[in-house]
Amino acid sequence: MLKDIATPKRTKEILEKYGFTFKKSLGQNFLIDTNILNRIVDHAELTEETGVIEIGPGIGALTEQLAKRAKKVVAFEIDQRLLPILQDTLSPYPNVKVIHQDILKADVHEMIASEFPGIRDLMVVANLPYYVTTPILMKLLEDQIPVRGIVVMLQKEVADRIAAKPGTKDYGSLSIAIQYYTEAETVMVVPKTVFNPQPNVDSAVIRLTKRPQPSVQVQNEAFFFTVVRASFAQRRKTLLNNLTNNLSFGKEKKQEIEQTLHSVGLDPKRRGETLSIQEFAILSDALYKVK
Ligand code: SAM
Repeated sequence: MLKDIATPKRTKEILEKYGFTFKKSLGQNFLIDTNILNRIVDHAELTEETGVIEIGPGIGALTEQLAKRAKKVVAFEIDQRLLPILQDTLSPYPNVKVIHQDILKADVHEMIASEFPGIRDLMVVANLPYYVTTPILMKLLEDQIPVRGIVVMLQKEVADRIAAKPGTKDYGSLSIAIQYYTEAETVMVVPKTVFNPQPNVDSAVIRLTKRPQPSVQVQNEAFFFTVVRASFAQRRKTLLNNLTNNLSFGKEKKQEIEQTLHSVGLDPKRRGETLSIQEFAILSDALYKVK
């Protein structure tokens, strides 16, 4: 039987066989610990009926473990040099398809229609390239990709911001954007030693469980996110000052903004980081009328 791809020895052999050199600019840090991989896959709760979308298979370390447990895996890989390697390493797994494409440019809906017909349970599982973690997550959520959830490895610092609760230093517009669509939790903190090459930052695995409905109902979604971003523009400033300076209402509306804050029971002197998502929803609906 073939040894797992994700061991230091087999990874080294594969890299040497193909003369592969890492591209830092593509966030290439490959996992070399099968135990960690299995724990990541456990958190995705796959069944033989699950279709998995992977982003950045590298030399196939995670793909292999996913293929063993899911019905089918479709993996997007941007680096052409990895394609012949993946063809070789994943040859024992006929239920894997690799697509050579930048995930940020991919039409994921179309891929799902053509590659996962009849599959009801879809998950995204990946060890993300850290230079584009946030754009990838936001694309998957904003495009409303019909998945049950997302289990991904990313920088611990970003995981902390994503899962942060109101009133903490990590809480900000990213926490709200992700928690609007999903329930977010950090499920593992991962040491640098399980990667080759080792990244400069600490890593964590998060699980995002898609909500059937966004966590709050708002009159205008785009405006809700505008209010959230404005409220966090300068973290040390009060809500009133941030909204006055950063919404495109014009400064002459300061008094009206202040009245609106009072009308919904929010102290204008509070800081954005203390507001819950529900409070932001109430605030944005009230400000929408001022606009
Ligand atoms: N899954 C492998 C593992 O765990 O060992 C590799 C993970 S490595 C952190 C990230 C992978 O994403 C690399 O293979 C890299 O080439 C690929 N990648 C980087 N940017 C990408 C993009 N925009 N679209 C698709 N793949 C990308």
